Amino acid sequence: MSSKVPPIILNNGVEMPQLGFGVWQVPDAEAEQAVATALEAGYRSIDTAAIYGNEEGTGRALAASGVPREELFVTTKVWNSDQGYDATLRAFDTSLAKLGLDHLDLYLIHWPAPARDRYVDTYKAFEKLYADGRVRAIGVSNFEPAHLERLIGETSVIPAVDQIELHPHLQQHAAREYHAEQGIATEAWSPLGQGKGLLEVPAIVAIGQKHNRTPAQIVLRWHVQLGTVVIPKSVTPSRIKENIDVFDFALDTEDLAAISALNEDRRLGPDPSTFSAG
Ligand code: NAD
Repeated sequence: MSSKVPPIILNNGVEMPQLGFGVWQVPDAEAEQAVATALEAGYRSIDTAAIYGNEEGTGRALAASGVPREELFVTTKVWNSDQGYDATLRAFDTSLAKLGLDHLDLYLIHWPAPARDRYVDTYKAFEKLYADGRVRAIGVSNFEPAHLERLIGETSVIPAVDQIELHPHLQQHAAREYHAEQGIATEAWSPLGQGKGLLEVPAIVAIGQKHNRTPAQIVLRWHVQLGTVVIPKSVTPSRIKENIDVFDFALDTEDLAAISALNEDRRLGPDPSTFSAG
């Protein structure tokens, strides 16, 4: 099945599907089946990370799918303990080998990990990988505007993407505004709020009833209309299919305003200004 997902154009002209499939917390043994189901459902963008421990299962599914490589968009991320110029180059080779690929579509610094103070060197290794044609776009994850400002001041390639926690309870206005000014695409992680609480919020349930859609579809459609890239995760086939089926309806201004009113600046994950684990 061909993809139903429209692309967004990154700041270097590369096209990235606006909706992809995330595999955090999917064990390697289950990743192959989950990614295979996602590819069958029409997903072409897969978001993994070295620390997820499922690059091999993901790679097996990609190889077995028969989907031409040029239709796929594969993202992985360098983990905190591999930050630094040489360590990052080695980590990239390891990730690529596990994925069974000869190039990557997007490589991200997983966290700024400010206490380690290595993200500038890490990004310089990314610039080399990019210049060598081993990755089509480079970017960051969990970078706040202050981290991005320093990075942009000390390196040459503006990141294509910043993947951050973003959902109706954490709408990230300041980060999104900074990204827009710099031409960086915002990508939302935990877009469904990890399926906790958010999908039972009465305003979202009501909008779902109005459009005859599930709460998850309403939240994903909200992301799409914000213009962000979104990477929901599920291992349940019916939900995997449901989550990509959000391109044939639209929320109206009243719906969008009701969801915007849900912001609580509430994080589910760690605070990027202090998280440096590894
Ligand atoms: P998510 O917001 O996508 O929620 C996933 C959970 O929501 C599922 O486990 C399931 O319980 C529920 N769910 C999914 N579809 C549903 C549906 N249709 N109906 C009802 N419930 C549904 O959470 P996530 O996995 O944390 O985030 C998505 C992806 O973002 C990850 O898999 C990963 O690729 C990425 N991520 C990145 C970072 C980072 O630091 N860069 C951190 C977390 C996640």
